[in-house]
Amino acid sequence: MINGVEIHRVALVGAGPGDPGLLTRRGVELLARAQVVIYDQLANARLLALAPAEAERIDVGKRAGRCATPQETINELIVKHAIIGRRVVRLKGGDPYVFGRGAEEAEYLRARGIPFEVVPGVTAALGASAYAGIPLTHRDFASAVAFVTGHGEMAEKRLDWANLARFPGTLVVYMGVRRLHEHVNALLGNGKDATTSAAIVERGTLAGGRVIVGDLASIADRAVQANVKAPALLIVGEVVARRSVLDWFEESPLAGLRIVVTRPSAEFESAARSLEALGAEAIAAPTVVVEPPDDFSQVDAAIQSMNSYDWIVFTSANGVRHFLDRVLRLGFDARVLGGVRIAAIGPSTAEALARYSLKADLIPHKFRSEELAGELAEIALGKRVLLARADRGRTLLKDELDAIAHVDQIAVYKNRDAISLDPAVIERIDEGTIDWVILTSSAIARRFLELLPESTRVRMKENVRIATISPVTSAAVRELGCEVDLEASTYTWEGIVQALTRVSKPAR
Ligand code: SAH
Repeated sequence: MINGVEIHRVALVGAGPGDPGLLTRRGVELLARAQVVIYDQLANARLLALAPAEAERIDVGKRAGRCATPQETINELIVKHAIIGRRVVRLKGGDPYVFGRGAEEAEYLRARGIPFEVVPGVTAALGASAYAGIPLTHRDFASAVAFVTGHGEMAEKRLDWANLARFPGTLVVYMGVRRLHEHVNALLGNGKDATTSAAIVERGTLAGGRVIVGDLASIADRAVQANVKAPALLIVGEVVARRSVLDWFEESPLAGLRIVVTRPSAEFESAARSLEALGAEAIAAPTVVVEPPDDFSQVDAAIQSMNSYDWIVFTSANGVRHFLDRVLRLGFDARVLGGVRIAAIGPSTAEALARYSLKADLIPHKFRSEELAGELAEIALGKRVLLARADRGRTLLKDELDAIAHVDQIAVYKNRDAISLDPAVIERIDEGTIDWVILTSSAIARRFLELLPESTRVRMKENVRIATISPVTSAAVRELGCEVDLEASTYTWEGIVQALTRVSKPAR
């Protein structure tokens, strides 16, 4: 208790080196009940999704054009939230106590009587080396490993390069990108063998990462040629050569591909995992937030009077899911639709129906409202039709059907547009570090392109390939002035992932 407020332990949590799968279980637990998450640039922002939606998320990392928040300000921020009784997670890249200033934060808390716990993380040296196929120790090649940092006052004062040059094991240098030549020369100048194997691992454990291999004499020049950027590590030692045998990550079917996923927020994690399992990096850019309706009374009334309808029309897989989940929730089952005929706008919608063991009686030849209205007009003349759809969207279907049938329209779910994209996604398209964007509906395609600044849209057309779920989406994409590079032959998410595994990888 401080001033009558119950204080929770502040958690200094190691986020791991990049791959979100490398967070510890304790980290997951603490994030799941966090009220405030204070995070760094190096902590994968994907992990923020593990915190409750209402938790406050505070970015204290460096971003282009903006400096990192000073340490003192971060310390104060942690305290400010902790002393009002909030559960604070301080999420830090890698491990909090390895070159992460975690000790300073813990000391600051200690001095103010605020309890804390420290959750270790996979530090960059361990993550990057494992994914790069470089064992840091090896019975035959290295019995010791040293982590050193090439940055900061302390490094300048205390790093003894003469001793490091003689160190009988693997050296891992953190934060060394800008001073790579300096560090390498310091080792060489102090007698380290110029033929010692060396590697630079950039963005280790992430699909966008790279491994550059050479010997001590050449590694710095190679890194400059390859335009290596932070975060990157220098690894020096004979173990680097084991990579030729031990590399595994780069052999995954989608290794190296950086893929933007634009699906509705609720579907991102499972979509991302299916890509990551194949070695890709999945980047979230949800354009739509799907939510249940505020009020179910209309939906419930329609379900209860289902036998008064001749047709029910679904225009999206989301509509099917929300409607049928409500049917089940009310204690009915698919037999509610036993006496009614079912129309689905396209294969994805029909597939969603199939998950409830329902078969569409009508799927138009072209998967568009116009065709659906046209084909229904021929068979539903004078009939009672229920349109189960989102709270908003085109009114064409209702307008056309109104002329020939008795139509009731209900909103079975709500679509809320994202108002913006994560600036990091825009930044990455601009700098050319995105390979694919997957678009799974026309609305998503439209929205995604709308949310991009004009200059980014141009960059995207030049540098990013587009994969779509179906011909309808492809058509929308083309209407928007973009080319489609890949279209799923099965109109499902798995269909797209499959198609991607068959595309040859870009040369980098
Ligand atoms: N606490 C962190 C280190 C922070 S210092 C940890 O335990 O990993 C930041 C430095 O870590 C970077 O400059 C870089 O040298 C290294 N680093 C962090 N993430 C990395 C990654 N994914 N790949 C390569 N190096 C990384």
